[in-house]
Amino acid sequence: MMRLPPFRYLAPVSVTDAVKLMADHGPEAMLVAGGTDLYPNMKRRQFEPSVLVGLRGVRDLAGVRPAASGGLAIGAGTTLTAVSRHAQVRGRYDALATAAGVVSTPQLRNMGTLGGNVCVDTRCNYYNQTEFWRASIGYCMKKDGEICLVAPGSSRCWAVSSSDTAPVLWSLGASVRLAGPGGERTIPISALYRDDGIQYLANHTDDTVTEILLPPADGLRSVYLKLRRRGSFDFPVLGVAAAVRMDGETVREARIVLGAVASLPREAGAASALLVGQRLTPELIERAAEAAYRPAKPLDNTDFGHPYRKKMTRVFVARALRRLAGLPEVVEA
Ligand SMILES: Cc1cc2nc3c(=O)[nH]c(=O)nc-3n(C[C@H](O)[C@H](O)[C@H](O)COP(=O)(O)OP(=O)(O)OC[C@H]3O[C@@H](n4cnc5c(N)ncnc54)[C@H](O)[C@@H]3O)c2cc1C
Ligand code: SF4
Repeated sequence: MMRLPPFRYLAPVSVTDAVKLMADHGPEAMLVAGGTDLYPNMKRRQFEPSVLVGLRGVRDLAGVRPAASGGLAIGAGTTLTAVSRHAQVRGRYDALATAAGVVSTPQLRNMGTLGGNVCVDTRCNYYNQTEFWRASIGYCMKKDGEICLVAPGSSRCWAVSSSDTAPVLWSLGASVRLAGPGGERTIPISALYRDDGIQYLANHTDDTVTEILLPPADGLRSVYLKLRRRGSFDFPVLGVAAAVRMDGETVREARIVLGAVASLPREAGAASALLVGQRLTPELIERAAEAAYRPAKPLDNTDFGHPYRKKMTRVFVARALRRLAGLPEVVEA
């Protein structure tokens, strides 16, 4: 049995206190929300904080509220189950309800939070292993080692962004509200991430995500498709989030974002641009899927072979767009 290392658990009841505790304890401390990712990682000694600042007692962090913009504000501490079942999320931001509802298992969705999902650690076959396993191959640079075992000549880590909701929130144009020692600020969710498997979050480590803000739906259609081996609880090895705003039959705005193909969600900008001002015909969908597939460069560090995952990017983008267009999803691989 793997055991947790020793740590102190601090239980603030307000965001202000959480921010202060994080600042007081510096790099020794980490935030924990549902703990569904962090605790297993601590058992594998991927993280060894001496202090955990628990967010479960911060009531202000939970719940879904109307936002001043006309959209929705979702507290970072809202569970994935609550997000997936919320009537307004389901009705207006269907892809988010879908993504939250396919994370892991029902038990973990009851504990796991949207904020934790947005900030979840990147993954790699050489890293998501026991301490004993990692020691046997001399570790890697993400924790305790010197080199990258996937790309030994590389000076960076290529661990994969594996959040289901992050690409969806990016495609929906969401923002995140952060609270830190310098006060509060709101940034686009795209600015939360860095293309680095170790420092994958751009915010300072003692920033707390307090809210996820969704813009008004305003004619939005959205979809999320997830590729994984076991439909019951695996992480995504490919996620395709697509969102369009329509003027009648014409696409007014489009955003396609890929998950699990890089160390951050990867926007397929060229593919999205092809759709704007056009009708979603089968021919256009094929061209957009081709454009999304070309820049996708999955590495050989998750489940399934990377050539297959790259090929499935085209298939899944086409399926997602066909669903948005109300067309049958059957597309030849
Ligand atoms: C068997 C298994 C299967 C899983 N499958 C999936 C899957 O299919 N898809 C998927 O996306 N995830 C999956 N997960 C990972 C995890 O369960 C989810 O990502 C979950 O949403 C994490 O939320 P949490 O509240 O439990 O986060 P925690 O484990 O508490 O924290 C995760 C990280 O986020 C940070 N954090 C938490 N809250 C905040 C905040 N408010 N502000 C700043 N930082 C914060 C923590 O410091 C930590 O680094 C799986 C985990 C397991 C064990
Ligand atoms: S990509 Fe390389 S450095 Fe990063 S976790 Fe995998 S093996 Fe380690």
